[in-house]
Amino acid sequence: MGVSVVTALAGSQAAATDASAAAGNGGNPGRAPIVVYIAGSGRSGSTLLERALGEIPGFVNVGELIDLYRRTVEHGERCGCGHAFTECPFWSRVGDRAFGGWQEQKLTATHRLQGKVARQRRMPRLLAMPLAGRRFRADVAAYGASYASLYGAISAEAGAACVVDASKWPVQALALARAGLDVRVIHLVRDVRGVAYSLGKRDVSRPHAVAEADVMSRLSPAEAAARWVAVQSQAGVLRRCGLPASPAHLAHLGDGRVVLGTSHGLSGNPSRFRDGEITLRADETWRERMSRRDRLIVTAIALPLMLRYGIPAAGSPAKKQEAHD
Ligand SMILES: [Zn+2]
Repeated sequence: MGVSVVTALAGSQAAATDASAAAGNGGNPGRAPIVVYIAGSGRSGSTLLERALGEIPGFVNVGELIDLYRRTVEHGERCGCGHAFTECPFWSRVGDRAFGGWQEQKLTATHRLQGKVARQRRMPRLLAMPLAGRRFRADVAAYGASYASLYGAISAEAGAACVVDASKWPVQALALARAGLDVRVIHLVRDVRGVAYSLGKRDVSRPHAVAEADVMSRLSPAEAAARWVAVQSQAGVLRRCGLPASPAHLAHLGDGRVVLGTSHGLSGNPSRFRDGEITLRADETWRERMSRRDRLIVTAIALPLMLRYGIPAAGSPAKKQEAHD
């Protein structure tokens, strides 16, 4: 697929110390978990990345948690373990622990807060938090408190100190960080042409997707490129940090393969249902099938960021890449 993982190193020393200590203890009751948040565009391979991270000792992956409130419960979507969300034993225990069960009232309240604080248009206000009104700050705090309960329950149930959340929306990571949660961002970047080609096809796996940053109806090349640029720019303002993982913790990753166990990832690509040894194959269909005109449109819009990320504008023939979804 042509995925590159950009992990900037701001504050990496402290982060490395925290996370390696946390990774070794297999759960840390009484201490808030570290949230490892994957930010980036849709159709970037985040499902595979979050599952690979979830195999690291002391880590647990939960898929795109942002969808929990806006559609997973409502539409009865399936968990990565194969059960319906409401029938998954893991999520039942998490719901009991966090909220005394998945009561509709509480889900609705958090969903409403999501609409107030975790929308793209709220990004400027979140960035200038001290200047925001008291009401907005209270909403951010309440939203963060709900997620803190959720992450805490996940961490306790999984016995993991690091929770990997592949929600992707940069504004969500910012809102949670502003509420005081310990959020470590991985900015995932896929070649914009692969993303645009994929978004130009209808996604039959996600018929219910409705939210503003993730509308899965077909997008024109220009729309897809503009969205890609917006998401990368927003992710670019988040403070990122390196994650420590010793080679011993990465035994599940090999040359062109990854070994994955069952996980309870929500939402995301249908590959979340597959486990065992998985051969990694680049999804580079766009190189063969995307028209020259569409490539030119997408490249024209995204060129400055492509150059920044080292993505060759020429769109050379497919090379060996690291990941697919
Ligand atoms: Zn499950």
